[in-house]
Amino acid sequence: MRPFDYLRPKSAEEAIEMKARLGKKASFLAGGTDLLVKLKEDAVRPEALIDLSFIESLKEIREADGTVAIGSLASYADIGSSPLIERFGYILRQGALEIGAPQIQNAATIGGNIANASPAADGIPPIYALGAHITLVGKEGRRVVAVEDFFTGPGKTVLKEDELIIEIGFPKMMEQDKGFFKKIGQRKALAISKASVAAVLHIANGKIEEARVALGAVAPTVIRCPKTETLLKGRKISGSLIEEAAKSVSSESMAIGDVRSTPEYRDYVIGVLFERGMRNIFSDILP
Ligand SMILES: Cc1cc2nc3c(=O)[nH]c(=O)nc-3n(C[C@H](O)[C@H](O)[C@H](O)COP(=O)(O)OP(=O)(O)OC[C@H]3O[C@@H](n4cnc5c(N)ncnc54)[C@H](O)[C@@H]3O)c2cc1C
Repeated sequence: MRPFDYLRPKSAEEAIEMKARLGKKASFLAGGTDLLVKLKEDAVRPEALIDLSFIESLKEIREADGTVAIGSLASYADIGSSPLIERFGYILRQGALEIGAPQIQNAATIGGNIANASPAADGIPPIYALGAHITLVGKEGRRVVAVEDFFTGPGKTVLKEDELIIEIGFPKMMEQDKGFFKKIGQRKALAISKASVAAVLHIANGKIEEARVALGAVAPTVIRCPKTETLLKGRKISGSLIEEAAKSVSSESMAIGDVRSTPEYRDYVIGVLFERGMRNIFSDILP
């Protein structure tokens, strides 16, 4: 590992000011579970690390006006144990608990997961399904970006050089909402996703009024499934609808092959994961 300066800002403002001053030479450091691996492999060579981990205000998880806001420095252990997330965004909790081992969950932050922008990141499909927005602050001010507009490719986002991810907000899941997150990896635990799926369905009068379905690891970024969402809208839950929708999910997958899997397997298994998730959440009404 090459030597670097270590900077420890006490506030988000100070961190942004440092990054604006140092530009490309510096990287933000959160939990370090992605960045330190890249540093060790010499894949990145920052001259300075701006350690965000002492900025307590960025670790808060709070509710406001029908939404839940998660500070970018909240770890996946914080998210996995938050009563607010359990009540109003439990699909993100399901994703959090699938990330690495408890040691990784203790260090890994949601902001780092998002900034790293892996299409296989387990924290990202749940926030697509929840309809989240991401607040960014840089020298030129604050902007709020819909999660779907944030990612532009593998490892690529709209984040500007001096911008810090401040928080991730999403509308609360209501009592009539049902949802799930499911992933499959090489092993049952401690494995990066070969494919993952998250969904939130708003149910009214026994019918699906609104559906948001997001797929991970089957395209250059996490993607929504517009055809499947339209197919589900207005329909009554049944075994045959779930089978039809699972086929539609597979058809919307745009998987490529890599070290972890083949495209054929990913396109197939994403439908299986979706079907399992749907059957779990509707087990009370399905035969
Ligand atoms: C053994 C192991 C297992 C893993 N398993 C999984 C898994 O199962 N699922 C999964 O999704 N991931 C997994 N990961 C990847 C990693 O843990 C996550 O992506 C994690 O959430 C990254 O967060 P971090 O806080 O560690 O980010 P860091 O490594 O500190 O930072 C990552 C990147 O984000 C930038 N950054 C961090 N915070 C901010 C911010 N607030 N604003 C702007 N930029 C920021 C940094 O500059 C850096 O470029 C694993 C990693 C390891 C080492």
